[in-house]
Amino acid sequence: MESQKKFTPTFSFELFPPQTQQGVEKLQLTRKQLALFNPKFFSVTFGAGGSTRERTLETVLEIQAEGHVVAPHLSCIGSTRQNIRAILEKYSQAGIRHIVALRGDLPSGMAQAGEFRYASELVAFIRQEFGSSFHIEVAAYPEYHPQARSAQADFENFKRKVEMGANSAITQYFYNADAYYHYVESCELAGLNIPIVPGIMPINKFSQLVRFSDACGAEIPRWIRKKLEGYGDDSESIQAFGLDVVTDLCERLLQAGAPGLHFYTLNSANLTSKIWQRLNLTGHAD
Ligand code: FAD
Repeated sequence: MESQKKFTPTFSFELFPPQTQQGVEKLQLTRKQLALFNPKFFSVTFGAGGSTRERTLETVLEIQAEGHVVAPHLSCIGSTRQNIRAILEKYSQAGIRHIVALRGDLPSGMAQAGEFRYASELVAFIRQEFGSSFHIEVAAYPEYHPQARSAQADFENFKRKVEMGANSAITQYFYNADAYYHYVESCELAGLNIPIVPGIMPINKFSQLVRFSDACGAEIPRWIRKKLEGYGDDSESIQAFGLDVVTDLCERLLQAGAPGLHFYTLNSANLTSKIWQRLNLTGHAD
């Protein structure tokens, strides 16, 4: 973990583009609450296969107009170079300087893979077309991506993304700190010298956590799963236990030298704020 300690810690909040006017208003309130913590940036997800392209753009511009730093996610699967170039040009003209570059997943029923196969190709494309205009974040998987042929092949992919020009990484969420330490040490050994910020998923509903984790390959350790299962429909106990587990995880990660935290807020300030306050974090001065 030594090499990560030299980076200034970055705290950021991930949001998704709302689908309804009610969702837009809820998100404005969430942002107002979370902005009090002075995050380095808000990031906004991009739906599979470009399904939220316009809504992502709208949300990004709205957040930027409020004076916050915002990092749009951009996934390339199912897209052409021309499409991706057009989106990046819009962001560039709007003064956006930070992108989370992803492959994404093809939505069911969408047969066309498009002109990009992997996120490393997107990173290379952004560098080729836009030079160093954007700070590029990429995804990292301490418990490995579910489609990876092997842990080694997945790590080689991460290395390629860094070699193509990624500036920093955000991890898939995990509840097993050792997986993150091991991953970061592998990066150190491979000479990959970028911040790898842990992605943090607060625990809200057990069924939702199981669904997300099955899809993205994050492991819910048995003892956590058993405890959550045992609470049944008692959402108060689930959240209270989840807060203890996730706050403790964040504390241990920061003490070990993690260069910040990226919260998957799911557009709600409630649990993220509680974790933040328990950790006594101060955010960014600028
Ligand atoms: P890649 O880095 O391209 O990797 C995908 C898979 O391909 C891996 O298994 C990798 O090992 C393999 N691979 C890569 N290169 C090669 C190669 N040359 N040969 C063989 N195999 C290879 N999804 C969204 O739709 N929208 C979002 O906004 C979004 N935001 C995210 C934010 C974060 C921080 C994270 C961690 C994930 C996010 N995702 C999002 C999910 C992500 O899109 C999926 O996990 C997707 O399956 C992989 O995207 P990637 O960028 O990690 O892909």
